[in-house]
Amino acid sequence: MSFSTLGLNASLLKAIAEQGYTQPTPIQQKAIPLILAKKDVLAGAQTGTGKTAGFTLPLLQLLSQKKPNTQKREVRALILTPTRELAAQVGESVTTYGKYLDINSIVIFGGVGINPQISALKKGVDILTATPGRLLDHIGQKTLNLSHVEFLILDEADRMLDMGFINDIKKVLSLLPKNRQNLLFSATFSDEIKRLADGLLNNPILIEVAKRNESSAQVSQKVFTLDKERKKDLLVHLIKEDNMQQALVFTKTKHGANKLCEHLIKCGISSAAIHGNKSQSARTKALDDLKKGSVRILVATDIAARGIDIDQLPHVINYELPNISEDYVHRIGRTGRAGNVGIAISLVCGEELEYLKSIERLMKKDIPQEILTGFTSKQVYTPEVKVQRGSHRNHQGQNRSNASATSTKHDNRSRVANVKHKEEETFKSHKNSSKTATPRRNRNYA
Ligand code: AMP
Repeated sequence: MSFSTLGLNASLLKAIAEQGYTQPTPIQQKAIPLILAKKDVLAGAQTGTGKTAGFTLPLLQLLSQKKPNTQKREVRALILTPTRELAAQVGESVTTYGKYLDINSIVIFGGVGINPQISALKKGVDILTATPGRLLDHIGQKTLNLSHVEFLILDEADRMLDMGFINDIKKVLSLLPKNRQNLLFSATFSDEIKRLADGLLNNPILIEVAKRNESSAQVSQKVFTLDKERKKDLLVHLIKEDNMQQALVFTKTKHGANKLCEHLIKCGISSAAIHGNKSQSARTKALDDLKKGSVRILVATDIAARGIDIDQLPHVINYELPNISEDYVHRIGRTGRAGNVGIAISLVCGEELEYLKSIERLMKKDIPQEILTGFTSKQVYTPEVKVQRGSHRNHQGQNRSNASATSTKHDNRSRVANVKHKEEETFKSHKNSSKTATPRRNRNYA
């Protein structure tokens, strides 16, 4: 299928061709005709599927077909995103695809001065991309008029709810004209999202390009289980050994991101950190530096990394697993985008095994474990299993029953048994490291 069969006009086709896109992605094939037909759409699309163009292209076409009925340009399309980075990226897409159309757009988000935004709004704008907080600031200051909005797009709605924006969204909705076209994009679906969709969308058409909460088939995933205190060393080892030139590394906390970034720099690996305590300009610079290759590693927390789009990002590393399983899907969705392949590596210590299990449950698949000589754990993580199925061997070749895998009917949480093993002795000689893929059945936890 080509873009021209989707009903897009020549100006948009020209802009698409300049981007080098040869054919629409599955979400674009489904969403573009429906949006052009003025339907409300509820779209379940994982990150990296091309969903931004999926809504931006038809939106631009519909807006350019109909002249505004006001003298001054008033906001006719409102795109809400959870984070500043995503807002900036969506704004860039609007500019890129709309370059041959007479459509104005701006992006507004917090962390930067409000006055330039006020001036831009005064001049008149057709498409406004915004994060909820700064949008409400403008509404409070009466610098924004939403009474002409014809299109509302909620992008990454699941994350907006995770970030506690539901009341802000409701406030914004109450200010919009009732008669409008609504599009809701979400990588994952929860009951809360369904409730939001029910209250927002009129006879929506549901489109899904991947099963809910399913990770991209383009991303190959692997896990290393090891002791917490060895994670830094393994990370440095992996970056150097695989000569990673561009990777996004996730930590759970802002402080953790800073500390890890400093450590990587000390080890001679150019890195930057991106999290909520960094100024917007620092966040933008860090992201640009990674994109253009002046830093190799971007250490990020979930909030800051949401929606980040780096063309052909080859590696995502979970230095720490998220405790919300859906976040794992979002994180690894930063790689393997738009048909490219990617690698997602997770460093998992004993206390994170529960997170790993719920991630695997969510994705309905096991993540293969790799063992790296010199980086296995001092501790052997064994679960308490409900039914003991004979004796299994764990990946260090020890008999599981020796590693105190006690049966219990009541508690199946992981237990940590301290067991010494030979590999600890080879710990210091990282140079001789070798990787071995371990089938799931040999994992030393269930
Ligand atoms: P998104 O899922 O919207 O964040 O898009 C992910 C990436 O896919 C972006 O870098 C887009 O530039 C790229 N992209 C969007 N549509 C296409 C397409 N039809 N062909 C190739 N790449 C695309």
